[in-house]
Amino acid sequence: MNTPDKALKIAVIGSGPSGFYAAEALLRAGLPLQVDMLERLPTPFGLVRSGVAPDHPKLKEVIKVYDRIARSPGFRFLGNVALGRDVTVAELRAHYHAIILACGAQSDRCMGIPGEDLPGSHTATEFVGWFNGHPDYRDHAFDLGREVAVIVGQGNVAADVCRILAKPVDELRTTDISEHALDALAQSRIREIHIIGRRGPAQARFTPRELRELGEIHQCATLADNRDLRLGERCETELNDLQNGNAAKNCALFREFTANQAGNRRRQIRFHFYLSPSEVLGDSRVEGLRVARNRLEGPAFAQVASATGETTTLNCDLLFRSIGYRGVPIPGLPFDDHRGIVPNAVGRVTDGDHTVPGVYVTGWLKRGPSGVIGTNRADSVETVTHVLADLTQADAVEKPGGDALEALFPARGTRNLSYEEWLQIDEAEIERGRPHGKPREKFTRVRDMLALTGHG
Ligand SMILES: Cc1cc2nc3c(=O)[nH]c(=O)nc-3n(C[C@H](O)[C@H](O)[C@H](O)COP(=O)(O)OP(=O)(O)OC[C@H]3O[C@@H](n4cnc5c(N)ncnc54)[C@H](O)[C@@H]3O)c2cc1C
Repeated sequence: MNTPDKALKIAVIGSGPSGFYAAEALLRAGLPLQVDMLERLPTPFGLVRSGVAPDHPKLKEVIKVYDRIARSPGFRFLGNVALGRDVTVAELRAHYHAIILACGAQSDRCMGIPGEDLPGSHTATEFVGWFNGHPDYRDHAFDLGREVAVIVGQGNVAADVCRILAKPVDELRTTDISEHALDALAQSRIREIHIIGRRGPAQARFTPRELRELGEIHQCATLADNRDLRLGERCETELNDLQNGNAAKNCALFREFTANQAGNRRRQIRFHFYLSPSEVLGDSRVEGLRVARNRLEGPAFAQVASATGETTTLNCDLLFRSIGYRGVPIPGLPFDDHRGIVPNAVGRVTDGDHTVPGVYVTGWLKRGPSGVIGTNRADSVETVTHVLADLTQADAVEKPGGDALEALFPARGTRNLSYEEWLQIDEAEIERGRPHGKPREKFTRVRDMLALTGHG
């Protein structure tokens, strides 16, 4: 093994949960290691900062754990440095003994239907990024002066999108939601939100807690049709399975919703099942969604939606699709386009039958968009186990590491930010939020973050 001054140098790409758990596992290994974390934004923490809903602040407390990791000896943050934009895979391989990709799933699955790109049709990523102050989505516009929105997809991200559209804006004012989103939501005229799923209530992917929350929104009626809750034998088999407790709880909630009335509530959320979008309608913007009615086919736990041939139209002005996330290919590395991940064998990146030496992957880019924040810990520990096994077997030569990498940046116009500079941004955001009773007011433009840290 190397001596401490010739520490093994590892680059972790991405500062979301999987990146931090990988860094933690490496630093706990008791080896002489230097871990450099490259992040394309000036700010760390991935979807914990820009995905987790502003009205779920407790979930963001995990940032304290990541902060402790970032302050550990042997850890360095290189913010505002993107693999593929500022550095190449070949350069990283020349500077580090191993590279761990932890870039998450940065894009959305498409519905692949006509009209999908009409104005008024958006991805959940765009909307969530916009209200959470992600710089990529700062200038997106959502016409909330309309009345009817349809959300395609029945998972927790769809629930987040729905809740933010349906909640009284005053309940969001003391969250870390971005100011521009708060201003737009304050003017919102959204009255009806329809959430559609291609299978039935027993297959909806919400967790019961998130679903229950939709039923508790002030001045909002949450509605379902009791005909959709007449479940067949195979669905009942699924609901009776103890491992499938979420589905049984969800169905109990949907049954409660069937008894609700819209009344004179300000807003309504309506669940629709067994529908697959087939066309987004409209000339110059979204005016409706044509949907095909499905029935379920196949055995319990493997039931698939199969078109009945019947179609219907939902009139709407806004469409959000929330049907899953995909990783983005990294130039110079293999990519599984079907699954939207970097192909790997338990974390070792593979190219056909071969492993790519020294390159590893973790988190959503490794396994696809599944699980909760904590799921990424075990996933990263698994990847790091292989990194360490390969490194100890390797006849490690000295590598130049992060100092030499940083020396490349000025000529490229790359301004990398340290963790201390992120802490400056953090402090300024908290200060900006204070007068409004918010935990922070995020900077939403990279140039403002660079200016604040003296890189303007
Ligand atoms: C809208 C939404 C809400 C969610 N809410 C919850 C919740 O309430 N509770 C829960 O448990 N889980 C939630 N999740 C799931 C959770 O966020 C994920 O499990 C977790 O973030 C995945 O971690 P990751 O590190 O793989 O990816 P990410 O968190 O996406 O982190 C990837 C990081 O890599 C960076 N990056 C990407 N490409 C590059 C590049 N080329 N160079 C350098 N850096 C790069 C990105 O900027 C990002 O910081 C939510 C997910 C979404 C999408």
